[in-house]
Amino acid sequence: MATPIIEASAIIKDYGQARALHGVSLEVGAGEFVALVGPSGCGKTTLLKILAGFEDVTEGRLEIQGKDMHGVAAASRPTRMVFQKLALFPHKTVAQNIGFPLKLQKVDKAEIDRRVAAMLELMHLKPEYLDRYPAQLSGGEQQRVALARALVSQPSVLLLDEPMSALDAKLKKSLQAELKKLHRELGTSFVLVTHDLEEAMMLADRICVMRAGRVVQIGTPSDIYYRPANMFVAGFIGETNFLPVDVVHTQDGALTVGSSLVTGEPVVMAAGNVSEFLGEGNKALLIRPETISFISGEPGPGQWTLIGVVDEYFIKGSSTQYRIRVAGLDAPVVMDLPGSLELPAQVGEEVGIGFEPARAFLLSE
Ligand code: ATP
Repeated sequence: MATPIIEASAIIKDYGQARALHGVSLEVGAGEFVALVGPSGCGKTTLLKILAGFEDVTEGRLEIQGKDMHGVAAASRPTRMVFQKLALFPHKTVAQNIGFPLKLQKVDKAEIDRRVAAMLELMHLKPEYLDRYPAQLSGGEQQRVALARALVSQPSVLLLDEPMSALDAKLKKSLQAELKKLHRELGTSFVLVTHDLEEAMMLADRICVMRAGRVVQIGTPSDIYYRPANMFVAGFIGETNFLPVDVVHTQDGALTVGSSLVTGEPVVMAAGNVSEFLGEGNKALLIRPETISFISGEPGPGQWTLIGVVDEYFIKGSSTQYRIRVAGLDAPVVMDLPGSLELPAQVGEEVGIGFEPARAFLLSE
């Protein structure tokens, strides 16, 4: 990570008797894009508001650009926040909305006009919009004005609280792409709260997964997806298959896994494919749907196979998802195949499916 611009250490936040954050620590690097994800009520927005200066901490320390933020008002911080619900001034024009933070800073009129025009261009908003009122713009355009207003005073950190959740799917996709490009061009640090995990994976350099006021894991999107800290994180992002396995510790410290449910020899797990959080309790392999394929015949070297019956399939265009019922497993095995004109199997058909256990990820239940 680059030099940290935000260093939040052991942050506790109480609302009256209720504890919303139980000692959260997070570092955000200069120019980094971090996404905060987690179930509703886990404290994402609370953490963002603490960074922005809209909430005080109960305990803990927050430094931004190396300075203690205790008692520093939101307006005096090098951060700006964009809210889920648009907070544009309805009776001000687009130009007045975007220029507002500069007016507060008593920047002179000509400079405000220049920077507002530059923001408009950056956000791909047409110059004729300057004199319109927010109600005369589409939802996506309004959200771009809100972004422009947050960025016009050139903050070092942009804090985004579900800024795209109110937009329709297509608009959301295009604004997501713009946001990523904007982040790359500006070099500003972005912290995004989102409940959309795909959005977090697409946009962020690192994802911080929270649960009940605590950070469960911080990592790159691939770490979170392929090397989750526990089953909660694994199940939270993307579709998952968990296969119960028996683990044998050999003398040289290697872990060998085997399963009575499959056809195939026990395998030695590669160190990188074993959770560092692996504790006591039953162990399971996390097998992502895209790593499973249909096979016929005996398993190849290092391969395990299962026999099952096609329960359902879903054609998604670029991919086709199959759900296979396997005796001994509670949930159907989910597999994602590349889309194709011909379906490889029909509902009710008996099929063989295979995967490489050594390449799957070993977790504790
Ligand atoms: P969501 O995804 O639903 O927006 P969140 O992860 O952003 O949720 P927060 O809004 O940070 O969660 O809320 C965390 C906890 O703190 C929740 O239990 C919530 O009810 C509580 N909380 C949030 N704001 C306040 C407040 N102003 N007063 C009292 N309790 C609050």
